[in-house]
Amino acid sequence: MDITKMLDYQTTDSELYKLEKSLRDNSNKKVAAEMSNTAKASQQRSFELEKKAGDLLREIETVKKQFQIQNDKMNQILAKDVANMSKEEVENMFILKDKLVQNLAILDKNLTKLAENVNAVLADFNKTIKTYNLAKERFTQSKSAYDKDVEAIEPKKQELIKKLAVLSKGIDKELMEKYNKKRQDNLFPVLVQLVGNNCGGCHMELPAAQISKLKTDGVLSCEHCRRIIYYR
Ligand SMILES: [Zn+2]
Repeated sequence: MDITKMLDYQTTDSELYKLEKSLRDNSNKKVAAEMSNTAKASQQRSFELEKKAGDLLREIETVKKQFQIQNDKMNQILAKDVANMSKEEVENMFILKDKLVQNLAILDKNLTKLAENVNAVLADFNKTIKTYNLAKERFTQSKSAYDKDVEAIEPKKQELIKKLAVLSKGIDKELMEKYNKKRQDNLFPVLVQLVGNNCGGCHMELPAAQISKLKTDGVLSCEHCRRIIYYR
């Protein structure tokens, strides 16, 4: 099999491969993807923090109500006239008063802690929104830069595609199909020469039976790297 034309095709195709690879490795594209992920994560976090702040505020309301109830009880006790009470009633009243003082102190401590938590959540929320806005801004910038990079290589890409279409005409159909299939998986170069008894792509040594098959057919798919090995 004459593979000269197939090799010419691959030479031109290597230029197209380089262009495609430059887009795959494009730094603007990478930054855009990174920023998109950051924005999504920040948005998710801001939702969570919003819910957390809501929960805390409801908890504060509950504790405030409890505090009010205990405080009312305390005021009732303080308003009582001790002069008309028995000794036992006065003792019980003092026990109750001590208990209420304790309860109020605990509730007050809880309220302080909850208020601190709310402040921490709000600070985190503000920080998260800042991160989100920054990520969104950087995403827009890098996406637009990437789009420009794509646009810039488009004429060269189209020129190469046209050239390849012309070159493909003289090539064995079956070989061309095989080539295209591997090329679609970004395997490049697709065609490699037999070097000694080894595949020119992955350098694995070929068994004697495969070498004789290659010498008869002219081409052979490498079992290791899937490239097309040629012999001539
Ligand atoms: Zn190989």
